[in-house]
Order: sequence, then structure tokens, then C-alpha cells
Amino acid sequence: MTERLYYEDAYLWEFDGTVTRVRDGRKPGTWEAALDRSAFYPTSGGQPFDTGLMRFDGGEARVTDVESDREGEVWHTLDRRISEGTAVHGIIDGARRTDHMEQHGGEHMLAGAIWEKLQGTTIGLHLGQEDSTIDVQLPGERTHLTEDEIRMLEDTVNARIRQDAEIRCWFPEAEELARLPLRKQPTVSEHVRIVAMGDFEMVACGGTHPASTGRIGALKILNVIPAKGKARVSFVCGSRAMAVFQKYMRSADKAGAALSCPVEKLSRAASELKSRLAEAERKANRFETKEMLEEFRQAENREDLKGITLAAVIRDEADPRAVSAAVAEYISGPGKLLLLACGEKLTFGRSADVDIDMGVLIRRVGRGGGRPDLAGGAGIPECVNVARKILKTEYR
Ligand SMILES: [Zn+2]
Repeated sequence: MTERLYYEDAYLWEFDGTVTRVRDGRKPGTWEAALDRSAFYPTSGGQPFDTGLMRFDGGEARVTDVESDREGEVWHTLDRRISEGTAVHGIIDGARRTDHMEQHGGEHMLAGAIWEKLQGTTIGLHLGQEDSTIDVQLPGERTHLTEDEIRMLEDTVNARIRQDAEIRCWFPEAEELARLPLRKQPTVSEHVRIVAMGDFEMVACGGTHPASTGRIGALKILNVIPAKGKARVSFVCGSRAMAVFQKYMRSADKAGAALSCPVEKLSRAASELKSRLAEAERKANRFETKEMLEEFRQAENREDLKGITLAAVIRDEADPRAVSAAVAEYISGPGKLLLLACGEKLTFGRSADVDIDMGVLIRRVGRGGGRPDLAGGAGIPECVNVARKILKTEYR
């Protein structure tokens, strides 16, 4: 069983060990090595593995993955084979691990505050590339948090971070363990490792943690969405919180410059712009509708059909809302029949007192269908002339 050096010192970036076992990796050109002792963290409890290097007499290998097996052996995936018995010097990517510790430490603080303030239990942690998420079971099956609750949790956790309280990890004896006020029951029964963060959080955890709450830096909740009957809270901590702030500020500044207004007034400016745009669209549509109606009237021909005014119109594409408004208005009066092609979109309509089925007619000349008084479909503009000839032959 590999001795896990990160249990004692989570900031140990370099260490010496010996390769005890070697096997082929899962991917071609990779090998897996177990050491007698290692500071590399294997993926577990939602915290991803460490990466880094292993130097040995005669070269170095990159560590691209780390996992532990059921026996407690830590296996390091390498891009070079290192033989059994070789002494190695391990070097961990400290920036990657520090980032993981900031997110993981912040998760403890957030879960502790959710438990204390809202009696919510936290189910799982997922530490992702961009942000981290926890699923929270809230009393009364609630799957969301209010804006005030989010703000209260952020303020609580950040105040505790600023207190820079000690974070301590240890393996208590069974007797001591039984007396500890843990946030939730451990999932293992042997070698239970406890982490305590000031008096805010105490729970069983085998992960790596910053030395004090101050080193978590800051915590920001990004959003809360319902997921499988729970509230899924996504958040960022430490350097990631600053990076998110910088990204959002950049985008807010750009939006402010585009709308010529200060960032604080962005939401008002955006909703004003939206309603002005909607009004302009309504005006443009009204104008287009009027123009189209005029086009229909100019195309009218009373000679074609006995007692019915037929308008056959072929035109370019138009806004569908303007088309429906113009057609509806045109056929609202008596004795009208309209054959319209807007690009490849066909609309055939007639007044209520005209007894010709538009759905049937449109299917005879193109694709589509609809009601007896109004039908739509697709076809070449020439379909309009074909339909006109049919009507002239059959209804004269
Ligand atoms: Zn932990």
C-alpha cells in the first residue's frame, strides 16, 4: 500500500520514492507505476488527479494520470517505462493542485454553511474545468435558492475565509471519532480521516486542503439549477473567482461601451433597447402589410372568374407576419380569391362566401395543405399561374 505523503503535507510538491510495481498502461505507449510513497493525489471524492514529473537516473517521465486501486495502491500513468526498484524524484504541478485545493476547500466551507444556515445536505462534488458543482438536498424538496439566500451563503463563507482559521486533518481513534460533531456520517469505517476548518466545518475527507481558510481566497456562487430533485449549486473559488470576475467585467464593459451607458445601468438600457426594437419592428411590419395589400389590389382581375375577384401575385420573400396580416385583411371582405407566391412560399386564400377549397387547390399545384379558406405550402412561383389556369377552366 502506497504511503500517501499529501495526508501529512498538502503543499509537498517534491518527494523521493521507489517504484514497487510496473504494468502496461491502458493506452499504447503508457505505463503505470506504483511507488512505496507518493505525494501525487489520485482522483477521488470529486477532486481530480495531480500531474507532474518523475525524474530518475537516466531520464524523466511525465505523470499524466493518477488513480488508486481497491488495495490502496496509488498508480501513476507515465509516458516512459520506469523499472521496478528505481529510485524516483517526484515533482507535482503545484499550480494545478493549488487550484484544486482552493475549489475543494471552498466546497467544504459552502457545504458547511448550507448545512448550518439552511439545513441542506450536500450529496456530491464535481470539480470541473470551469466551475465546481454540488447537489444539495434542501428541506421540503426545494430545488432552488433565493437571491437573498445565495448572497447570505456567499457573505457567510467569505467572512469565514477572511478569518483565516486553521484547517486541520487527522486520523482519530474510534473513541475520539465517536465524539466528533461531524456534518455527516463517514462512508468508510476504517482509517477515517477528519478535516476541521475553524469551527465552521468538520467532516470525514481523504482529499487535500489548504492550510488555512484564508488560502481559499474567495468564493462566488455562479448559479443554482434544479437537478434530479435537488438544487445544483455551481461555484468558483480562489484564482478562478477572480478570473470569472475579470471575464464578466470585460464583457459588461464592452456591452456598456456598445450601448453608451455605465455598467450599473446596463440592464435598464438593454430592456429599453429591446422595447424600442420591438416597436420599430411592429411599425415596419405595418408598413409592409399596407404595401402588400396595395399589391394584391393592383393585381385584381374581375374577368377571370364569374363574380369573384381573383388576385394572382408573384413577389419576393417577405416577413411571414406581414404576409399573414395582409392575407387575412385581404380575404376578410366578400368575393375575393388570392393566389400568392412569396419566393417559394405559397399562400392561397379566399373570402368566406367563395366556395372553392384552397387546401385541395394548393395540393394540385404544389406541396402543402390547410383549411378550405386558407392554405399554405411550397412550390415554384409558377404554381400560381397553374392554379389560375385551373380556376379559369373549372369555375368559369
Ligand atoms: Zn476535503
